[in-house]
Amino acid sequence: MAATISTGATELRDITKMERIGAHSHIRGLGLDDRLEPRANSQGMVGQAKARKAAGMILKMVQEGRIAGRAMLFAGPPSTGKTAIALGMAQTLGADVPFTMIAASEVFSLSMSKTEALTQALRRSIGVRIKEETEIIEGEVVEMQIDRSLTGATKTGKLTIKTTDMETVYDLGTKMIDALSKEKVTAGDVIAIDKTSGKVSKLGRSFARSRDYDAMGADTRFVQCPEGEVQKRKEVVHTVSLHEIDVINSRTQGFLALFAGDTGEIKPELRDQINTKVAEWREEGKAEIIPGVLFIDEVHMLDIECFSFLNRALENELSPLVIMASNRGMARIRGTKFRSPHGLPVDLLDRVLIVSTSPYSDEEIAQIIKIRCEEEDVNLTEGALMVLTKIAGDNTLRYALNLISTAQVIARKRKSAQVEVDDVRKVYGYFMDEKRSVQWLREQQGSLLF
Ligand code: ATP
Repeated sequence: MAATISTGATELRDITKMERIGAHSHIRGLGLDDRLEPRANSQGMVGQAKARKAAGMILKMVQEGRIAGRAMLFAGPPSTGKTAIALGMAQTLGADVPFTMIAASEVFSLSMSKTEALTQALRRSIGVRIKEETEIIEGEVVEMQIDRSLTGATKTGKLTIKTTDMETVYDLGTKMIDALSKEKVTAGDVIAIDKTSGKVSKLGRSFARSRDYDAMGADTRFVQCPEGEVQKRKEVVHTVSLHEIDVINSRTQGFLALFAGDTGEIKPELRDQINTKVAEWREEGKAEIIPGVLFIDEVHMLDIECFSFLNRALENELSPLVIMASNRGMARIRGTKFRSPHGLPVDLLDRVLIVSTSPYSDEEIAQIIKIRCEEEDVNLTEGALMVLTKIAGDNTLRYALNLISTAQVIARKRKSAQVEVDDVRKVYGYFMDEKRSVQWLREQQGSLLF
């Protein structure tokens, strides 16, 4: 088994590091300068200077690989930017440093145990940067003939490639023909073919990132290069996460499970084998471990078993940086009758670096609202901005930000390009914030079902 462990390089070319999350799409980084000092308004970030600076310092440690066994906790009232700062950290990390984001409640599911869900999240957050040598064939396309067969479903063709020292004729399969014709490769074009990944690039214009082509999978090797006729070698580096390696090598799953997000439980023996293999690759200089970041939002929703599992996992050599966030003060530790700060057991709190976030000033709120309006292409009058700022101060920033797009719908209905005070007033009436909703429930107690 160990010898056949696959990294899934060909299957997994374009797994994105993280999804863009709507409400935070304006966040492009932590907005720090070279000395890690927070700029007042930069990369979509406003205020919260101390927390951003602390986040920047931790990131520096991540980048220097000095984070084993570390965890941090963002603690602060709702809507004070805990998630936004964590996402800012993710944006600042290099493209191949894994960043995984989960809400603690996702750990509880019927399809897998809590500890398996946490293990998967932790292993998603560890990257393995693998170096491989690949053969590259470069040359001018001398001839390209494509024939559709009679059924129309399969295509066959031949491609003659002239490289500096040789001329070779390749038989083409349907998918490759489609890929080549899509990119309009014709005789006279100079192309490069990567034998390992099967990528074809029209030189000067990359077609390697074509999604269709990526989707073809591992078996679509285009070139059968005759033995001993290697034209060029190139070192390719790709990063996959430990979890992706687990899934690809799991007999019951296969790599398609990664796209479906339905990976089920993975056997501990398989993980052990993979850890051993990765350790071997490291020793041979073929692979490097990239510790990434696991962000656990609403961490007070975890229970005592999860906390003790996390505590142990942090001691593991292959541990990412774990960032937690909570908006609770003193809370009961789930699964026990004890209360503690942020609902975290004391032994975990003990090893955590706590960063607090605090409420924003009116000026900062107004700036964040303006940034969101730009992001959502909404034009607010000064008056409407003032009203929204007031609403954010009285309720939460998130509630006020949610009203922006709904107010725009009202403005559009009256054919105005600008959102005015009245539009904001109307949506404030239509959509309740948490406080008013609770009040309303109290008033309705007699008529609602509980
Ligand atoms: P909760 O405890 O309720 O989960 P939170 O502290 O994680 O809240 P966020 O979700 O990060 O709060 O913030 C609410 C909204 O305000 C988001 O849209 C976020 O992008 C934006 N936001 C928060 N802080 C900042 C900031 N400093 N700069 C720019 N935008 C911010």
